[in-house]
Amino acid sequence: MYTRSSALFSRAQQSIPGGVNSPVRAFKSVGGEPIFMVKGKGAYLYDADGNQYIDYIASWGPLILGHAYEPVIKAIQQKVLDGTSFGAPTELEIEMAELIKSMAPNVDLIRMVSSGTEACMSAIRVARGYTGRNKFIKFDGCYHGHADAFLVKAGSGVATLDIQQVPGISEAVAQDTLVAAYNDLDAVQQLVKEHKGTIAAIIIEPVAGNMGCILPKPGFLEGIRKICDEEGIVLIFDEVMTGFRLSAGGAQQTLNINADLVTYGKVIGAGMPVGAFGGKKEIMESVAPLGKVYQAGTLSGNPVAMIAGYTLLKELKENPSIYKELEEKTAYLAKGLGEVLTKVGQAHTINQLGSMISVHFASHAITDFSTAAAADISLFKAYFHFLLSKGVYLPPSPFESWFLNNALSYADLDKTIQLTEEFFQK
Ligand code: PMP
Repeated sequence: MYTRSSALFSRAQQSIPGGVNSPVRAFKSVGGEPIFMVKGKGAYLYDADGNQYIDYIASWGPLILGHAYEPVIKAIQQKVLDGTSFGAPTELEIEMAELIKSMAPNVDLIRMVSSGTEACMSAIRVARGYTGRNKFIKFDGCYHGHADAFLVKAGSGVATLDIQQVPGISEAVAQDTLVAAYNDLDAVQQLVKEHKGTIAAIIIEPVAGNMGCILPKPGFLEGIRKICDEEGIVLIFDEVMTGFRLSAGGAQQTLNINADLVTYGKVIGAGMPVGAFGGKKEIMESVAPLGKVYQAGTLSGNPVAMIAGYTLLKELKENPSIYKELEEKTAYLAKGLGEVLTKVGQAHTINQLGSMISVHFASHAITDFSTAAAADISLFKAYFHFLLSKGVYLPPSPFESWFLNNALSYADLDKTIQLTEEFFQK
């Protein structure tokens, strides 16, 4: 059934570390071999052996309207005929910046980069340059890309592979990264007190997606906002997953909390390599060439990537009903899965907001990394493989959010719910 995928994986391991170009693809946490994909269309992925999957990953978030969304593909095809990169400014970059500003709150100035990692790394540098301070607070189980300073108690693949300390990160760098448990406002207060006057930024996934999906408790983000205001700390919302996914204005809009700087990623490239960081004018004016905080990129604002993201974002802006439809589908899935799990007597906690959802096999609430890690991980592995064998592609780790795309039909959701029941009845 996976003959060709398996042969490709053997071959890949001869020339690519672990056979993959990003660790979360490697199925390390769930066991078995990764599936090699050849095509995506709408809600479905197709592998090298011709198997079809209902996809709940959506390329880890960006494909909000499904794979190979026709207007995006057409726009790319048209644009690429004029060349792939100029290394000089284009009007499209202004249009993209203006579109983002018209959708996202608190973005006066925005700079394009090529990945979420670059966006978060640059935002921290700007916060440090602006405040003249070195330390920052992040949260256990949140992932902000693979820049050195973020690989301390990181979520996503770092949590999946259970790497306690990443070799190659110098102590000098790591000591400026302070870590608190997600949803623990007291811990943040304590860190700020202990390191008074030295903290440049607090960076957070306003809805976490890298330890499963975890919602901020009421008052948690508001409390952080207040601390930042009182202490002159720059509040950075990492909206690489939530931006333009939870709503047109991202988590800032959905949760009604203002950040000082925001980072965006994959979503704004519609599956092309794009990221961005932006925010309040006063802070963003420290970025070169206006200010001295240097940040650059040969391929930043790449025309092909820009047109892909622009086309998707414009559609999301013009059709806000997309968010309602997506949310209804995700709530339907959450309800259906919850009913089935209750019926078969399986302890579970389902976290969901907008089109982000995760299912944890545990009777306790999942509110931070330690509660996520205390769920039944081996049961998740068996569940993952059963669904995969039946044509449903979940993230291959319990420490990842599922992302719904609007090409999913209710029949796809029903199939997923039915298969869940079948698995637990066995
Ligand atoms: N921040 C968050 C919240 C993410 O989920 C990710 C990637 N999953 C990143 C940053 C890093 O983005 P990239 O992989 O594009 O570097």
